[in-house]
Amino acid sequence: MRRKLAAGNWKMNGLAPAMNEADALQAAHRNTDIDILLCPPATLLHRLSGRLAGSPIATGGQDCHPAESGAHTGDISAAMLVDAGATHVILGHSERREDHGESSEDVRAKARIAIEAGLTAVICVGESETQRDAANTLDIIAGQLAGSIPDIANASNLVIAYEPIWAIGTGKVPTLDQIGEVHDFIRARLERRFGEGVGLSTRILYGGSVKPDNATDIFEVSNVDGALVGGASLKAVDFSLIIKALEAAGKH
Ligand code: PEP
Repeated sequence: MRRKLAAGNWKMNGLAPAMNEADALQAAHRNTDIDILLCPPATLLHRLSGRLAGSPIATGGQDCHPAESGAHTGDISAAMLVDAGATHVILGHSERREDHGESSEDVRAKARIAIEAGLTAVICVGESETQRDAANTLDIIAGQLAGSIPDIANASNLVIAYEPIWAIGTGKVPTLDQIGEVHDFIRARLERRFGEGVGLSTRILYGGSVKPDNATDIFEVSNVDGALVGGASLKAVDFSLIIKALEAAGKH
């Protein structure tokens, strides 16, 4: 069975006082039966990892460079993330694909080095509003999956996050049928490429304006194994409600 995963992406938010949010989250979920992941800005990663050591909450980076080391001012390597205590890294987030012109080929190279360094790659895919309106969603997702996932991926070092770009930070959410259609499609593509074993055990998260008031419905959709949460992961009280919704999913 796939273990559920609630992942928080703090993006470029969080100074030292954000540790208090992590403390509150840790206190509220000491005995959780799902996986919880916080991806803070790089400046907080080491501190946060230390603070959460021994708790069920893992930490991750938000990007890494495809090279092992070298003359890449301002970048961070996969080994540095591991050194700072991370176990995961988000790759190919639409904000990286858009703001930094990252192609799926770039994402694949980053994912390969991240996995080789021992990290789990959380690879993001998702269509723009124009692409959805033009009925191109599944083609876009197929292309991003094929291009971004390295051959060395398997169910323990890969997580896919489906994040429609138009739903990120907008408060707009696809219908449950739309989410289900894409998640089923991603599952089928993973099975086709990696075989049933890996395909059926790789986790697929939904991301895009997940909030405490819509989480329960989203978590009932087929092939939704959790969420990648931006804005609502910044406050422990909100993220905790989403985590509780995921803990409860499928149990009634
Ligand atoms: C994200 O950035 O990955 C995200 C899903 O953001 P939000 O939850 O704020 O839409």
